Amino acid sequence: MNIYTQICGLVIIALLITFYKKQPTMGLGSERRFITTLHVIFACVILDIISCYLIINATKYSRSIVLLSCKLYLLSLQAVSYSALAYTIADIFKYLGSNFERFLGRLYRYGFILGLFVTLYLPVEYHYDGIYLYSYGPAAFATYILVAIYIVSVVASTIVLKKHIKQQKINALLIWMTIWVCSAVIQFFKPQLLIVSFAACIGALIMYLEMENPQSAISRKTGHFSSAVIHDYLDFLYQSKKNFSVMMISFRTMGDASTENKILRKTITTLSEFLFNIEVAKVFDTAEGYFLLVFENNDFMESTKFKIATYFQSVEDNPDIAYAYTLLHPVYTVVPDSSIAYNADELMMLLSNFVPNNYENLVKDEIIIDKNTMAELRNKKLVEKMVIEAMEDNRIEVHYQPIYNVSTCTYTGAEALVRIRLQDGTLVYPNDFIPIVEETGRIVPLSDNIYRNVLTFMKSYRVEKLGIEKVELNLSVKQGESPVFVSRMLELLEKNELNPSLLNFEITETSSLQSKENLLVNMEKLKAHGISFSLDDFGAGSSNLNYIIDMPVEIVKLDMHLTEEYFTNPKARAIVKTVVEMSHSMGLRIISEGIETEEQMKEMKSLGVDYLQGYYFSYPLPEHEFLKFLQMNNL
Ligand code: C2E
Ligand code: MG
Ligand code: MG
Repeated sequence: MNIYTQICGLVIIALLITFYKKQPTMGLGSERRFITTLHVIFACVILDIISCYLIINATKYSRSIVLLSCKLYLLSLQAVSYSALAYTIADIFKYLGSNFERFLGRLYRYGFILGLFVTLYLPVEYHYDGIYLYSYGPAAFATYILVAIYIVSVVASTIVLKKHIKQQKINALLIWMTIWVCSAVIQFFKPQLLIVSFAACIGALIMYLEMENPQSAISRKTGHFSSAVIHDYLDFLYQSKKNFSVMMISFRTMGDASTENKILRKTITTLSEFLFNIEVAKVFDTAEGYFLLVFENNDFMESTKFKIATYFQSVEDNPDIAYAYTLLHPVYTVVPDSSIAYNADELMMLLSNFVPNNYENLVKDEIIIDKNTMAELRNKKLVEKMVIEAMEDNRIEVHYQPIYNVSTCTYTGAEALVRIRLQDGTLVYPNDFIPIVEETGRIVPLSDNIYRNVLTFMKSYRVEKLGIEKVELNLSVKQGESPVFVSRMLELLEKNELNPSLLNFEITETSSLQSKENLLVNMEKLKAHGISFSLDDFGAGSSNLNYIIDMPVEIVKLDMHLTEEYFTNPKARAIVKTVVEMSHSMGLRIISEGIETEEQMKEMKSLGVDYLQGYYFSYPLPEHEFLKFLQMNNL
């Protein structure tokens, strides 16, 4: 009996089913459909073998039994192709689809059931002449038609639903369908080759290797689900409209990097083993050294947190790990309610904002992410997008606020202040975007854009000829500490043929010591070329005094709130007076910012402040108005 191919297929499918069942799965719709498909193919191959056997030995059995086996085989062929279709559109039609698509999904289902009944009802015949073996007749014909419809639908779905289905899955499905169609064509012309059910097995094998091998969803290092499948799983939960909660466990490092790495690895290994005890959550190992726990039932979050905290306390008995915890502190980032994010992408983006290197300054051990955090983050993303688009479309503008020199009674300085012009013409002020882009790192390209803008302006209008001795640029620490900052500035100055002494950078305090050191090195280099520095917003922070001592600044800018308070608060008055005296005695000059009234102007002058800046003299002005201002007041 010519059933070697079927036996091979049977072995392949049996192995696939065994492997698949042994592995942990995430419970995705497509996983369930895949295992169903494997079972249906298994049944199909068995029915193929039985019907072949019965046809060959038809004389020994009653005719109706042989016919029934033929029919059952035909039905199983329909079931295989239908399950391939169901697998292709798993989750998509059910959750994502439009009303029409959902209707189509139902139509296929009822069509499939109807097809089965019609095939059962229609007559079938079989043929065996010692070589050729096949069944034929209306039931077989109906089966060919229906199988063809399902196969065409699979191919059509991969085209129509392209954006919902992974390319890898589409490729594997198309290979499967091609193999199947080819085998059917071959069997049609050479009926002695019974390869259709074998081809179904090969197709399933391809799907398994390409898409459904649960092993690829498991991290080799820890045995938990790997980072590669987090998105798929979260996507499935969002699509199926399930509410869930997420807890991320990461580590805040305290010591030096090399010992930390070793300790981090060791700690992660022990924690990872412990996490196998948590059954109420799916545990993902994110490969970056932290774990993500997803709870489909929100009630278990608290008890699990408690269990893990107890674990961390208990390991203190183990001296090695206890030492590790003096350097490494677990940080729990908790999203109690998944509905704060619209989808898996947004949730992943949200979590990626709370990975360890993003919370250097964090002291808490638990971060709860709620609606407000999400709103803030969305706003950040919008602001970032606005800045990027403004840079692309050249909508970054710089306005100049004149600085009054008390000794010459002219405007010898100006502060360059950035603005973004929106497409509708309105202006966005720096307080609304600078702090955000400083956080995200976009400040470096933005500052470069601003400095280019300012230096081109200085070159085009030769502002020094209009009495300007210094243009003040605000310097973000991130920019100032960058290793390419000095060379970039010198390159810009040279390109615009400008004297470096025309530039002054305003710096503000920075919390990180490392940044301060790098900044200091860069400052010294630029100073050697004639660029000067001033200390911005003096009196607004806390460690400004150290700054005057450490940093090579020549000018101190009194913060406008200090100037304001000077008139209402005797203590502020004493501080301002002392700062002016102290600065002068150190050879530093003083600028008073935020001068809005004549009274403020007079008082600051009488204190001996060297420069004055504020709305009393002028608002920050667009380029041409600024030039006009200088011509009117300086010449
Ligand atoms: P800042 O460096 O302290 O700049 C002074 C701010 O005070 C400016 O606000 C200016 O318009 C405002 N101001 C000036 N005179 C008066 C006054 O008499 N009364 C009041 N109430 N305000 C006055 P602006 O332009 O909105 O800038 C805000 C901050 O944004 C700046 O504070 C600076 O820290 C930052 N910034 C501005 N431009 C840049 C830039 O190009 N790069 C960087 N990194 N930061 C910038
Ligand atoms: Mg400033
Ligand atoms: Mg300031």
